[in-house]
Amino acid sequence: MSIIKLHDKYFKTYITAEKIAEAVHILVEQVSKDCKNDTPLFIGVLNGSFMFVADFIRQYKYNCEVSFVKLASYQGTNSTGKIKQLVGNNENLEGRTVIILEDIIDTGNTLEEIYKIFKDKNVKQLKIATLFFKPDVFKKELPIDYIGIPIPDKFIVGYGLDYNGIGRNLADIYQLTSKPTMKNILLFGPPGVGKGTQADRLKEKYNLIHISTGDVFRSHIKKESELGILAKSFIDKGNLVPDDVTIKMLKSVVNNVPDSSGIIFDGFPRTEIQAKTLDEFMEEKGETIGGMIAIEVPTNLLVSRLLERGKTSGRLDDQDENKILNRFNEYFTKTAVLKEYYRAQNTYYGPGNTVLKQQFL
Ligand code: ADP
Repeated sequence: MSIIKLHDKYFKTYITAEKIAEAVHILVEQVSKDCKNDTPLFIGVLNGSFMFVADFIRQYKYNCEVSFVKLASYQGTNSTGKIKQLVGNNENLEGRTVIILEDIIDTGNTLEEIYKIFKDKNVKQLKIATLFFKPDVFKKELPIDYIGIPIPDKFIVGYGLDYNGIGRNLADIYQLTSKPTMKNILLFGPPGVGKGTQADRLKEKYNLIHISTGDVFRSHIKKESELGILAKSFIDKGNLVPDDVTIKMLKSVVNNVPDSSGIIFDGFPRTEIQAKTLDEFMEEKGETIGGMIAIEVPTNLLVSRLLERGKTSGRLDDQDENKILNRFNEYFTKTAVLKEYYRAQNTYYGPGNTVLKQQFL
């Protein structure tokens, strides 16, 4: 789950782009079945429906025409009940099959207006297809022929829908949520890149708790605890500690941190399973990962840095070039993919992506 800020409000992921694509696909199949022998005129209701219409039309394989009308009933996050027709439809609709493509139907005020507009146009048939539908607030006795995804009465944004003008470009659908109270950050990058050093700076500046999974493992190794003995057998070879062991340890550390403004995760997650588990774990706590900050340094510099650190750190895994190379191998095969994982959530902050920076720190 990711939380974004639009104007003054916070929104969390609600319906993923994949789920939306599935719903659009089913709508296209239903409409195709009913209309393939006609040349229907699809009319999108602007602005919100532009993305839905584009995706819908791209998949519709039979002859069709496309047009738009523009109506408006929303201001802020509440339906005002007042509808204005801003751009009308001038085509000759007599005898045509007209299919209205709506992004969302809630109270039905817009829908009522649409029915009024088409009442005296002598169309052959008028059908309504909506991607989202709020059955709990729909108050009209008007037919809706095709419904994509019914949703409860929550304000949503994304995939064409906006909150006071912004948010239409988001690929997923987000819903209103309360302001997250913690600023949780993941520090990401290969061994030796300086995650620990940057964590020290960030924790001072933002009053955060720093959790380094490597440090936690090392303190267990020092104590010769059961976990330490197990972890050592992996760490000394430069291998990752198994997910189940690491996740259990991480959860217990997080559950015992004192109240703070947030947590810096340094060295976690390192696999996709760890990333998914962390998302679920944060969600259970009503929290989220604000961002993954990726630090990059050319790999050839890192090996010499680590060997240098090994001279004083006492870390066996920093003293042997083969072990260091194995850690890089673990990083590039298991951890590097997480960049895409967080990029997909819009929470990746690193080289090549600064877009959302202002919304984060
Ligand atoms: P570095 O980033 O320099 O590799 P760390 O102190 O972060 O050093 O980690 C040291 C070792 O601890 C890793 O090589 C790995 O064996 C183990 N480790 C740390 N975090 C994780 C994790 N999230 N999953 C699995 N193993 C981990």
